Amino acid sequence: MRKISILGATGSIGQNTVDLIDRDPTAYDVVALTGGANINKLAEDARRLNADVAVTAYEDRLPDLRAALAGSNVEAAAGPKALAEAAARSADWVMSAIVGAAGLEPGLEVLKQGATLALANKETLVCAGALVLETAKANNARLLPVDSEHSAVFQALVGENMDAVERIIITASGGAFRDWPLSDLAKATVEQASSHPNWNMGQRITIDSASMFNKALELIETKEFFGVSQKQIEVLVHPESIVHALVGFNDGGVMAHMGAPDMRHAIGYALHWPDRRDLPVPRLDLAKLGQLRFNEPDEARYPALRLARNVMERGGLSGAVFNAAKERALDRFIAREIGFLQMADIVEAVLDRFGASDGLIDAPLTLDNVVRTDHLARTWVDDFVIQRAG
Ligand code: NDP
Repeated sequence: MRKISILGATGSIGQNTVDLIDRDPTAYDVVALTGGANINKLAEDARRLNADVAVTAYEDRLPDLRAALAGSNVEAAAGPKALAEAAARSADWVMSAIVGAAGLEPGLEVLKQGATLALANKETLVCAGALVLETAKANNARLLPVDSEHSAVFQALVGENMDAVERIIITASGGAFRDWPLSDLAKATVEQASSHPNWNMGQRITIDSASMFNKALELIETKEFFGVSQKQIEVLVHPESIVHALVGFNDGGVMAHMGAPDMRHAIGYALHWPDRRDLPVPRLDLAKLGQLRFNEPDEARYPALRLARNVMERGGLSGAVFNAAKERALDRFIAREIGFLQMADIVEAVLDRFGASDGLIDAPLTLDNVVRTDHLARTWVDDFVIQRAG
């Protein structure tokens, strides 16, 4: 039996992973499941899958989790430290599906124990790419991509030589506001930004898709994961979300990966890698679809892409700054304190302030520095929000 853990088990990716495990329960020995506020779901899955431990990220929810697990053999724990400890428990395969920078430290713990980390949490590579890759290498651990675009690139590269890769193209649906006039975007509401045309995902990544901050993070993730330069990575808007990524080679050939927009494909690929197994995802009917459209993203509509390219050029801690500023600006947008377009304005202002901060720009990429810079960038967002409101 394979020992597995799911970090962020109660979320969209976590539940899709649980769905696959539920279909073949005798194949897996579940070590740890973690969640946040959704205690009932966490306890229900931990009981059914007979996990060793269930952890909520919130310390004050420990009594609720204990009560929900009463009478079972599942241990209950809470708080970021318990989360990192659960990630460090010996396992063969661990799904990293916590949302945001909170996924970084548990992910590093998984790599330190030499397990395979199936990486949905793109923030891990955005905030600390070189550190994560070094940790994996030093501990003989494996990283497998779960983001659909990166899984697609990974699959297109099977048997290929990276020296022959000229470019990587990741696609973007264009999100909720793809067809809106630019002039209306300033008035976009949280509800409007929270509905995705093709994918069913958590609220934060859905809003990030509308602003293309999600694609911006994926640009950085591509650079870190596949070791290419930012100039080799392109973005194409592809409204049908059928082609997830393409790899162009030096002989002019291009390998495209296609599939229905269902995350269980990428999760299942990472779960069964290097094999392919039957997965419960819809099969493509291209004749029925009729056409696939592609066009270049409009940078005026999606400034996040330009910001991500600057971050890739700058390197170091700028990925952590970018992500933290984006997360905090998103919190403020969800709290209805700033408008949709102000998110990118504020993230740019934070990056500028970071660029002008002596001592930070060249600081080494350690976990302590990432955590410190992350906090600082969030307070800068708050400063800008207060300034703009005043
Ligand atoms: P969700 O918001 O649906 O789920 C997030 C998970 O993280 C939940 O289990 C949540 O717990 C938990 N969580 C929330 N805050 C914290 C915290 N501070 N510390 C620890 N755990 C926390 O997110 P998604 O599943 O949509 O996304 C997860 C990750 O996967 C993100 O990095 C996203 O970018 C990436 N991803 C998602 C895709 C998708 O289709 N959804 C596609 C590709 C990548 P609870 O819900 O109990 O509060």
